[in-house]
Amino acid sequence: MRAATRPPPTGPKKTVLSRVLWSYVIITFAFALVAGYAVLQQRQSVRDTALIRTGYVPLTLALRDAVALQNSYNSQLNHITEARNPGDKRVWFETSMRLGRPRAFMEIRSAMRRVFTSHNPLLGEALGAESQRIERFLEGDRDVLAQLFSALDRGEPLKAEQLRDQLVTRGNDALTLLRTLEDRVNVQLDTLTEDASRRELLTLRFLLGWAVFSILVGIGVGLYARRLLQPLERVTQRAKAVASGDLTPHEVVASHDEIGELAHTFESMVAAIARASHELRESERLATIGKMAAHVTHEVRNPLSSIALNLELLDEELSKLGAGANRSEAQLLHQAIKHEVERLTELTEQYLSLARRNEPTLEFEDFAEVVLEALMFVEPDLTRHGVEVERDIAEALPPVRLDEAQIRQVLHNLLRNARQAMPKGGRVTVRVRESGDGVELEVADTGEGIDPLVSGQLFEPFVTTKSHGTGLGLSISRHIIETHGGSIRCEANAPRGTRFVVHLPAPSAPVQA
Ligand code: ADP
Repeated sequence: MRAATRPPPTGPKKTVLSRVLWSYVIITFAFALVAGYAVLQQRQSVRDTALIRTGYVPLTLALRDAVALQNSYNSQLNHITEARNPGDKRVWFETSMRLGRPRAFMEIRSAMRRVFTSHNPLLGEALGAESQRIERFLEGDRDVLAQLFSALDRGEPLKAEQLRDQLVTRGNDALTLLRTLEDRVNVQLDTLTEDASRRELLTLRFLLGWAVFSILVGIGVGLYARRLLQPLERVTQRAKAVASGDLTPHEVVASHDEIGELAHTFESMVAAIARASHELRESERLATIGKMAAHVTHEVRNPLSSIALNLELLDEELSKLGAGANRSEAQLLHQAIKHEVERLTELTEQYLSLARRNEPTLEFEDFAEVVLEALMFVEPDLTRHGVEVERDIAEALPPVRLDEAQIRQVLHNLLRNARQAMPKGGRVTVRVRESGDGVELEVADTGEGIDPLVSGQLFEPFVTTKSHGTGLGLSISRHIIETHGGSIRCEANAPRGTRFVVHLPAPSAPVQA
């Protein structure tokens, strides 16, 4: 029976464990990527919030205070010439110039340092320089204010109004400069806030996208796992079928992992069981046939030997008769009967061999000698049939353990077949040589070759192409050789004929015969 299992796929093996591990690594890596990204974004948000809370908020408040101070400064200026008591106003202005403004600008500068030192130092420098310029510009008010209060003290209203208008214009200019500075800071704050909300939106979208992707990956991994384990289901189904007696060969699951390996091993096991059960059935069949054959052969052998004995007596009687037509006709008949009796005897021998299937009695023998002796015995018969014998026997062969009678029987079978394959004569070559771990016997003929109808089953019992053949010779020969631990094969003999090659192993350690 032919095993239908095919070899497992080659190439590096992908184990289920490695696949699971890889899936796990990919998912973990993806998770670490998302977690890392989210943490980074969160840290940036925390940093921005801290910057707004400790930097931008105090800075905008300081700027607003400075603007508010400048507003009240400007409105005080508007009414300074109509004041009943300019001395009070002078105290207010001087306090504002000495304390209010310096404090306001100091707070602006310190808040700017907090905001821009790490965040945007270049812009910080530019804005700091701008605040210093405004402060210096406002410093110029001090002289004009002094002149204004002197004019008021001296009672020069026209001069005082002129100086007041100059101060109002300067105050408005300073206000405009302060508002511009405030606007620039506000733009920065807006940019920061917009960046933060844009980042938040991006993170949200990224997380959403990743959630969708994770779901898709989850579905993918689920389908992949299903596909991965599907062969296991098929192996289970197959095991159930085998358990219920289905030993027919099946396609092996072609996955290159442990499941594929399991399926392949399982199919090899099923093939082995199928082979064993086939062989068991075959040997049971042969045993039954053997029993019958033994019984019939036993019954036939006794009459056959008495016929053979009587034939010899008859031969003697015939030789006593005088020469004549009757005598030669009787001798021809005698020869024909003798031939048939011999054939029947040989047939009974073969059936008995099949029935007995004796275990060989192994002894160390000189293989070449056994072959030569057997050949000597058969050679006259071969020559009589026009078959020339060629010997090619090697010397100093390793000793092999064999049952001489059984090996002779094999050689007889092979030589008889060779003779029968060359009805018009030919040449048979008998070769003995050392081969591998033992010895090899080759019987090659120049006959008609193997009939293609039986070429695949030559060694099966009862397979014959001959009208009087039993189909047992090669089957018995193979059994004998296999019980010797050897092998027998048949091949075409170029340019024509057939060659049978028998291999017998020699024991590995040299042993004395
Ligand atoms: P049998 O000789 O009774 O037919 P065997 O088992 O000895 O039984 O041989 C089986 C068949 O193998 C033969 O019938 C023949 O067809 C084929 N065969 C065996 N030996 C040879 C050979 N040397 N050349 C051609 N055919 C052969």
